[in-house]
Amino acid sequence: MISVEQALDRVLSCVKPLDSEEKPIMDCLGQVLDEDVRSPIDVPPLDNSAMDGYAVRAEDTRGATAASPIYLNVAGEVRAGMVIAKELAPGSAYRIMTGAPLPKGADSVVRFEDTDETDRTERPPSQIGILCQVPPDRDVRHAGEDIARGQTVLARGTTLRPQEIGVLASVGRTTAKVIRRPVVAVLATGDELVEVDQPLPEGKIYNSNTYSIAAQVLRYGGIPRRLGIAVDQEDQLKAKIREALHCDLLITSGGVSMGDYDLVRDVLARQGEISFWRVRMRPGKPLAFGLIHGVPHLGLPGNPVSSMITFELFARPAILKMLGKQSLSKPSVMARLESDIENTDGRRIFARAIVRKVGNDYVARLTGPQGSGILTSMARANGLAIIPEDAAGMKEGDEVRVLMLDWSEE
Ligand code: AMP
Ligand code: MG
Repeated sequence: MISVEQALDRVLSCVKPLDSEEKPIMDCLGQVLDEDVRSPIDVPPLDNSAMDGYAVRAEDTRGATAASPIYLNVAGEVRAGMVIAKELAPGSAYRIMTGAPLPKGADSVVRFEDTDETDRTERPPSQIGILCQVPPDRDVRHAGEDIARGQTVLARGTTLRPQEIGVLASVGRTTAKVIRRPVVAVLATGDELVEVDQPLPEGKIYNSNTYSIAAQVLRYGGIPRRLGIAVDQEDQLKAKIREALHCDLLITSGGVSMGDYDLVRDVLARQGEISFWRVRMRPGKPLAFGLIHGVPHLGLPGNPVSSMITFELFARPAILKMLGKQSLSKPSVMARLESDIENTDGRRIFARAIVRKVGNDYVARLTGPQGSGILTSMARANGLAIIPEDAAGMKEGDEVRVLMLDWSEE
C-alpha cells in the first residue's frame, strides 16, 4: 500500500497542462492565460478629469480663497466622451465632468465644491468663482497611468479572475488564448445502480456518484461527460470505457475493492497499465490508478464519501494541473479538535468536520457517524480533518490540519 503523497506523485506524473484555445473573454473565467497580453493602447487614452468641476490653468487660481475668490470666464462644457479642440485661454475655465478629456491648455481641475457654482442659476454659468488655489495635476488622470501602450498587462500563466477579464476588455481584447479545460468522463459501475429518473426496484440504489463527481469536475474547472452506469460485466465495462478514450481523464466509481464482481481494476490491468490500486488512507483505500489506452484512469471506490474524498485528493490536483495551474494544494487551516478521533489501522484519516472560527483560532468537530456510505456527512462538512497514519488517534484539544472544502481555490 502506498502513501497519499506517493499516490499523488504518480497521478501527477501522468498528466500535464493541456493545449490552448482562443475564445471569447467571457468564456475564459478561471482558465489560465497562455499568452503574454500586451496593450495596443494607453489606458486611459487621454488626460482626463477625476472629478466633476472646472478644468483650469493652475496658475490662474493662485491666491484664490473663499473670502477672495478668483473669477474665471467659462468657455464651455466638456462631457465624458467629448474632445474639445479649442485651447483653454488664460483666465478661463471649462466646466468638466468625470472622465472627460482635459482641454488643451488646462492642467488642473477645481471641484464643484471649491467653486461658487451653487450660487449660479445659468448652466454652464458664464463666469465661475474659484474658492481655492489648486496645484497643477489636481484631480487629473494622466494618459497611460493605468496601462501604457506596449506594456505587458497580463503574463502567461495568470489565472483569469473577473478583474483580469476586465483588464482584457480595457485594452480592447474580445478573445484570449487560454489553456483548455480537460474533458473528464465519469462512469458509475455496479449492478445495484439505478438512474435517478427511474423507479427504485427492491435491492437497488440510486446512482449518486456520477452526480457528485461530475459536480466536482465542474467546480474545479473541468468539463464532465457523464457516461451513466455500467453493470458489473466485463464486456459492458469495456464498451463504456471505449466511449471515454477521447477524453483527457476517465473517472470511474466502484468495482475496485476485493469483491467477486469488482472488475474495474481487472479491466484496467488487462487493457492498460495499472500504477497502484491501494492507498494508505481512510476512507478510500481501494483506489486504482493507471493508463488505459493512454488515458489516465482514476478508479475511485464506490462508497459515496470515499469517491468524493479521493476525488478531492487526486482528481482535483490532476484537473488543476491539466488546466495549467501552479498551486495544486487544497486550502487548509490548523484547528483545535472538539472531539476525539481514533486511528486503529495506521491509515491517514480524512474525517468529515465542521470548522468554525472562535476568536483568532479555528475549532473543528466531527459531523457525526463517519461511515463512508453516509453521504450526508459530506453535506454537513466544510472541512476534512487529517489524522496522520502514524498517530494512534487525536484527542479533544489537539491541533489538526483541516482541508477546507469550500475555500476559494486561488
Ligand atoms: P464498490 O466499490 O463497487 O464495492 O461499492 C461500494 C459501495 O458503494 C456499495 O455499497 C455500492 O452500492 C456503493 N456505490 C457504488 N457505486 C455507487 C454509485 N454510483 N452511487 C451510489 N452508491 C454507489
Ligand atoms: Mg460495485
